[in-house]
Amino acid sequence: MRGAVMYGPRDVRVEEREEPRIVEPTDAIIRVSAACVCGSDLWPYRGAEEYEWPVPMGHEYAGIVEEVGADVRTVKPGQFVVGSFWATDNTCEICRSGYQSACVNRVPMGALGAQAELLRVPLADGTLVATPDIPPDDLVPGLLAASDVLGTGWFAAVAAQAGPGRTVAVVGDGAVGLLAVLAARQLGAERVIALSRHESRQRLAREFGATDIVEERGAAGVAAIKELTDGLGAHSVVEAVGTHESMTQALDSTRPGGHLGFVGVAHDVSIDGLGLFWSLAHVHGGPAPVRRFLPELIDLIWNRQIDPGKVFDRTLPLDEAADGYRAMDEREAIKVLLRP
Ligand SMILES: [Zn+2]
Repeated sequence: MRGAVMYGPRDVRVEEREEPRIVEPTDAIIRVSAACVCGSDLWPYRGAEEYEWPVPMGHEYAGIVEEVGADVRTVKPGQFVVGSFWATDNTCEICRSGYQSACVNRVPMGALGAQAELLRVPLADGTLVATPDIPPDDLVPGLLAASDVLGTGWFAAVAAQAGPGRTVAVVGDGAVGLLAVLAARQLGAERVIALSRHESRQRLAREFGATDIVEERGAAGVAAIKELTDGLGAHSVVEAVGTHESMTQALDSTRPGGHLGFVGVAHDVSIDGLGLFWSLAHVHGGPAPVRRFLPELIDLIWNRQIDPGKVFDRTLPLDEAADGYRAMDEREAIKVLLRP
């Protein structure tokens, strides 16, 4: 089968890989209908994370079940399923509390490589959620988005306690930030401030429900948010970048007693203890427990109440994955969908 493999920074190749087989009785094999390049894939692509090269790539996927192990009960061959970037049992105490991304038995899907024709999914019963039927083609991008970017943006909005009567500021105009805008509106936020200086991303933010756009960054960005909130700061702030600058801006934009939800994978972020002390902010985040939200998100997409698939502004055949990485790295594309 064909699959994407990273050989080092800026070196992505699609090559023949060994076909996955059932290893554990709790595994499923799926034929990937759609996969994509993640913003977090750009960290190793840019040389900001070291690996034992080469590594298979991809952790976002939706597809059709081909085969299941003897112990799999909840999904069966022929069903269309969505999973997320951790395979999880969904039964341990941590999973049952809603934090499946820290499941005691979790397996990272990225190590298995979802940018491929076939994918082995461990702990299939706990990981995969089937759609009511085989989806029409136009719903596939949205369902794929649920696998990570939507699920992550949703968690960030929930962690920031976006809801009725609240003003939400979103730091980061990548796919996760844009979908956090959508999530905040769905959760009932009255006002959503998107921070972006890119025209095409501003337009999508507005389509997803942003009421205000702020172009300034850093201290000027904080001042602009305060100006829009009677000098107080936002009730809810989403951080969806992962740099020291974005985290600082997000924390400084949160009003006393407000909530900061952070989901950008942190790189060289250091939080000043005294600044945190005086902020009086609730700070919550980390790798999103996407599995917690999957059934609800699939339902919203299936019933066409939300269209997160709009975040994919480029679709490429899997064989052109390298160009997809390049386009996202150069911010020429917001999010690239790969069709195996
Ligand atoms: Zn678990």
